[in-house]
Amino acid sequence: MFIKKIGIDLGTTNVLVHVPKKGIIVNEPSVVAISKEDRKVLAVGLEAKDMIGRTPDSIIAERPLKDGVIANYNTTEAMLRYFINKALGGVRLFRPEVMIAVPAGITSTERRAVIDAAVASGAKAAYIIKEPIVAAIGADIPIGAASGHMIIDIGGGTAEIAVISLGGIVSCGSVRIGGNKFDAEIAEYIRHKYNIAVGERTAEEVKINIGSAMFMNKPLTLEVKGRDMISGLPKIITVTSDDTTEALQNVLEKLIDSIKEVLQQTPPELSADVMDKGIIMSGGSSLLRNLDELVAGQTGVPTYVADDALLCVAKGTGIALDNLESYKRSILATK
Ligand code: ADP
Ligand code: MG
Repeated sequence: MFIKKIGIDLGTTNVLVHVPKKGIIVNEPSVVAISKEDRKVLAVGLEAKDMIGRTPDSIIAERPLKDGVIANYNTTEAMLRYFINKALGGVRLFRPEVMIAVPAGITSTERRAVIDAAVASGAKAAYIIKEPIVAAIGADIPIGAASGHMIIDIGGGTAEIAVISLGGIVSCGSVRIGGNKFDAEIAEYIRHKYNIAVGERTAEEVKINIGSAMFMNKPLTLEVKGRDMISGLPKIITVTSDDTTEALQNVLEKLIDSIKEVLQQTPPELSADVMDKGIIMSGGSSLLRNLDELVAGQTGVPTYVADDALLCVAKGTGIALDNLESYKRSILATK
C-alpha cells in the first residue's frame, strides 16, 4: 500500500507517526545525536536516545523541542525528515500530505519552519494543527460542536490546558510541567530522603511503576538501585508510592493552579459545559496514578483520562487529515 497521508505528533519527548487506516507506524523518542565538531546528524530516535549518557565527548544527544517550543531548527528539521522518510519507506509514487501537531504556544516563525521542513522532506502539502485540538479529536471529543470541552495534554515538557468550542481554542494555558519535571522531583526527593543518587531513567521507572498523585490506601513499593552519596558505592533501597506523592506535591499544586486559572478565564456558558462534560486528559503524563482523581477533587470537575492517552494526538492528526473539510477551521497554516 502506498502512503498518501501522514499524521505526525511532534512531541517534546516522543514523535509518533500515524497513517490513516494503518495506525501508528513510528513511535520513537524525539532525540537527535550530533557530532560536536561539525554538528553532523549521526542518529535520530531510538538509536539516538540510547546514546544519551553513554556518548563519548565528541557526540551530543539533543532534544530538538524543549518545553513546548522548537529549541533548534536544524535538528527539528533533520528529525522530521528522518521520520517522514521512515514512514514512507523506499518506494514512493505519491508525495504525501502531512499533518503535524505542534504545541499551542509555538510562534508563526516556528510554524513556518515546521512546514518548510515537511515540504523539504517531500510533502506535497503540509498542515499544522494545535496539539490540544488534535488531542481532543483523537479522544473522540466532538470539537466542532458549540459547547465547551476542556482538554489537558500532559507530555514530557509541558502541560497544555485548553477549552475548545466550535473547533477553536477559547481559553488556554501552558505550563512547563510534565513528565520530565516529575522525574526530576522524584530523583531529588530520593536523594534527600535516602542519600542515594539516581539517574533520570531510574526516576522515570519509579514514576511509571509506582508513582501516584495521591497517597494510596495500599502503597506500592519498588526496589531501586542508586549510588550512596556518602560511600559512593552502589546501594539498593525500597521506594514507596508515598515517596512519589510527597515528591510531586508542589509541582502538582502548580499544575492544579494553572487548570483553575484557565477555568476562571472561561466564559460562564462554556464553563457550565465543562462542568457537565468533564475534563479529558491526554498525553503520557496523564497516566500518572490518581492524577485524574486529584484534578477532579481539586477543581470539582469530573476528570477522565482518554483511551490511549499516549497515542491521542497522533491518532487525531490522522483523523484530521482524513476529514480536512470538517476540521478546516482548526488547521493553522498550510502550504
Ligand atoms: P510529549 O508529548 O512531550 O512527547 P508524551 O505524551 O509522549 O510526551 O509523554 C511522555 C511522558 O509521559 C514521559 O515523561 C513519560 O515518562 C510519561 N509517561 C509515560 N507513561 C507513563 C505512565 N504510565 N505513568 C506516568 N507517566 C508516564
Ligand atoms: Mg504530546
